[in-house]
Order: sequence, then structure tokens, then C-alpha cells
Amino acid sequence: MTGDLGDGTRVVHSTPAAVGEPFLAGPVFASAYHLGGDDTYGRPHNPTWRALETALGDLDGGTAVLFPSGMAAVSALLREVLSPGDTVVLPGDGYFLTRTLVAGMPVEVVEAPTAGPYPSFDGVRLVLVESPSNPGLDVCDIAALAGAAHAAGALLAVDNTTATPLGQRPLALGADVVVCSDTKAVAGHSDVLLGHVSTVDEGLAERLRTARTVGGAIPGPFEAWLAHRGLGTLDLRLARQAENAAALYEALRGHPAVSGLRWPGAADDPAHALASRQMRRFGGVLTFELRDAAAVERFLERSALVAPATSFGGLHTTADRRAQWGDPVPEGLVRLSAGCEDAADLVADVLGAL
Ligand SMILES: *Cc1c(COP(=O)(O)O)cnc(C)c1O
Repeated sequence: MTGDLGDGTRVVHSTPAAVGEPFLAGPVFASAYHLGGDDTYGRPHNPTWRALETALGDLDGGTAVLFPSGMAAVSALLREVLSPGDTVVLPGDGYFLTRTLVAGMPVEVVEAPTAGPYPSFDGVRLVLVESPSNPGLDVCDIAALAGAAHAAGALLAVDNTTATPLGQRPLALGADVVVCSDTKAVAGHSDVLLGHVSTVDEGLAERLRTARTVGGAIPGPFEAWLAHRGLGTLDLRLARQAENAAALYEALRGHPAVSGLRWPGAADDPAHALASRQMRRFGGVLTFELRDAAAVERFLERSALVAPATSFGGLHTTADRRAQWGDPVPEGLVRLSAGCEDAADLVADVLGAL
């Protein structure tokens, strides 16, 4: 509906507002409907999900199916696409729970680093990539991987959580499926868990909706509504977060206590050339290393504005020492999610804490 318009216009006008109606209709909590319309029961049908699915599908360029968390979206996709004995390629440096999930499935797993090299996709059913990867912020060439996957008869799925639907359109780059944890920047206020799958394959979208109805794990209408309200400011929030990430990158670059600084939006980041070819904009997540776990603890204790918290993409600047969760990264690796504070305040606070 809003395909030719800018990001800010698209997220604000993601649902058409009729005269006399609210701009964003309130959440519908019904479990049973007065029969006669399309909606019958709350497990298969909910207008609040549909409004958000329409908005997200429009941004992704496909059909979106909502799930109660990002992991629910990932697991619905994997269970729908993979059969026993299939081979799946996963990022060895991507979101850790995806690897945990697949480890419990009767499939062959091949891990590849996001930046490559990738194995041959011969005999592979599904290639799942994450770009930029969480937490390392490496980037892979989605169009090239889609070509290689399709040549081998495999599907390409992209976990687009770090990029968001405004930051990257994997379906337009040739991917078959996008998964996204809307818990992060899409909802954006650290108060909701939600996720979605988008695909250009209507048959797959229908199968995912059926799996959700039959499986019974459905999103809450209030959560869907909160995420939809958050989506309206995604353009504004991402702009401020990227501005803050750029300021922090400048401040941390060359700092004696900091190594391995990564932000794909920076001109001197190793992923920048590829990222700027395939991404539409950059977000607020940076990664860097301090000497060890104790150095990270001291940094977080001394900072007034950087909250120790997992997750990312919220209004508040947060930092997460990923090794504490078992990510295969150095003990002192910090994933910092720049929030929507003022850049000067953040830079002063972070430099002071270091
Ligand atoms: C957080 C995250 C997930 C899981 O999402 P939840 O909403 O926490 O279930 C999946 N993939 C990536 C890249 C993530 O960052």
C-alpha cells in the first residue's frame, strides 16, 4: 500500500486510518467471535495480529506471520521446512539459541562463519544466515548466497533481527524467507517479546499459519498491539541509535582500553563495503572488546547511562557481555546497543567509565 513512500511515512501510515476511527485500532482480546465474519476463534484469528502482519509484510516485501517470540518464529520455520535427515547450514557465530534448537532436531548441521567461507550447498535443504550477525556484526552477501543456495536446490532464510525490516530487505535480495525477533528494535521499548517470519511463498506462509493454529503457541494481542505502536517510531529510533553508534564508534576508535571495535556503519569496518551495498541503513548495535570479564564489570559499574542488560534495540543504551551466556566469544566482548539518549551525554559517560 505504501511501497513508494519513505521509511518514516511507511511506519506511521502502516495501517490506514478511517474517518472517525483511531489511528491505531486498540487490541482485540476476543477468544470467540459472533459468527458471520471471517474471524471465528482467537487461536487462528486475531485482527490485531493481522494489522501488524500487514505492516511487517509490507516492509519486508512478503507475507508476514506473527509468533510469540523470535525463537518461536525460528522454530516454526525450521520445523516446517526441515524433515528428518535433512542438512541445514547455520552461522557458527550467530544467535546461540538457533544452534541449541537445531542440535535437538534429527538433522545434519553444518556451521559456517557469517563472513565465510561457506561450504558447498549440494544436498542442503536450508541455509540459514544472520546478517549482521549477533554478536560479532559480520556480514554476508545475501544475493550471492541466495544464488548459490538456489543453484543447489536449497532455500535461503535470513535472520534479519539486527538489521530490522527498515535496515535490510532480504526477500528483495533473493532470500526465500526472513525471520526477525521483533522483541528488539521493531517493538523497541524493552517491554514485549514477539517475532515474525516473512516469505514470498504464499504456500509456506499458509503452512506456518496452520502450524501456529495447530501448535497453539500464539502471540498475545496486547503484545502485538504494543509492537505495532512501537513500529510507528522505528524510523526515528533507528536514526537516533545509528547517530549515537557513530558517535560512540568515533570515541572508542583508538581508545587504549578498546580492541576489536565493530560497527558495519563505519567506513573503516571490514563489513562496511558489503553492508552498504545490501543494507538500506545501519542500526545502533556495536561490538568491542575490553581486556577481560572484570574490565567489563568495572566499565558497567562506573557508567551511569549504559545499563547491563541482554537484548538490544531498545530506547535505553545497554551492554551485554556475551560470554556470560555461553556465546563462543572472548570473555571481554561487549555488545553495546546504543539507545535514544543524546550522543554527547553517551560519549561523555562511556569515556568516563572506561
Ligand atoms: C534475540 C534474537 C533471537 C530470538 O528472539 P526472541 O524474541 O528473544 O525469542 C533470534 N535471532 C536473533 C539474531 C536475535 O538477536
